[in-house]
Amino acid sequence: MKIPLFDIDGTLFKTGGQLHQEAFNYAFEKVYKIPAKQTDIQPEGMTDKQIIIEVLKVHGISPEVSRQKVEQAMAQMSKYFVSHKEEAKPVILPGVISLLKKLKEKNVPMGILSGNVETIGWTKIEQAGTRKYFSFGAFGDKTEKRAELVEIARQNAGKVLNRDLEINDFIIIGDTPKDIQCARDNGIETVLVSTGIYSFEELQKLEPEVLVHNFEEELQKVVDFIS
Ligand SMILES: [Mg+2]
Repeated sequence: MKIPLFDIDGTLFKTGGQLHQEAFNYAFEKVYKIPAKQTDIQPEGMTDKQIIIEVLKVHGISPEVSRQKVEQAMAQMSKYFVSHKEEAKPVILPGVISLLKKLKEKNVPMGILSGNVETIGWTKIEQAGTRKYFSFGAFGDKTEKRAELVEIARQNAGKVLNRDLEINDFIIIGDTPKDIQCARDNGIETVLVSTGIYSFEELQKLEPEVLVHNFEEELQKVVDFIS
């Protein structure tokens, strides 16, 4: 049995991408006093912390300067997102609930590995009514490198499950090339699902261990691979 680390956006839910973008833009304005936009770069698969640094780079602000206020910026993002959360409810992607239920029945511990700022990530998960399935998480406010989230997940899972875990005990479940890159950087396996912005054919070229169109039609294949 492996412990799955689920990505959020495009994997579990179609989320309030718009609201998340607005939260970034609010923080750029509020903390850095510039009209920067999250969409000034291609942010898919990056951690939120990394996105802030990369967007500001485009606006001529050095990472050294950006980092001085990045915690403050992420706190403003969380505040904005939580106070507007009713405007954008996450839409649960096909088969996600069945998959989570099946894995829970089999006593598979489940975690989140997401580029989202932690408060924003858990807010989406709670709004979708899925908080009960996840016992730990590793989030994008802790690092600018997605690959480092696996070690953070390992440590957090170890505390919650009260046992020593190896990196190899985990697999990544995601929807983008960055998810599989993150897994490969850690030498672990990947399940990819084409419910995000990448097509099945695009993801197929990356040769993940398992690739499905969605978790509804190919539920058993994913359950068997994990458990
Ligand atoms: Mg994603």
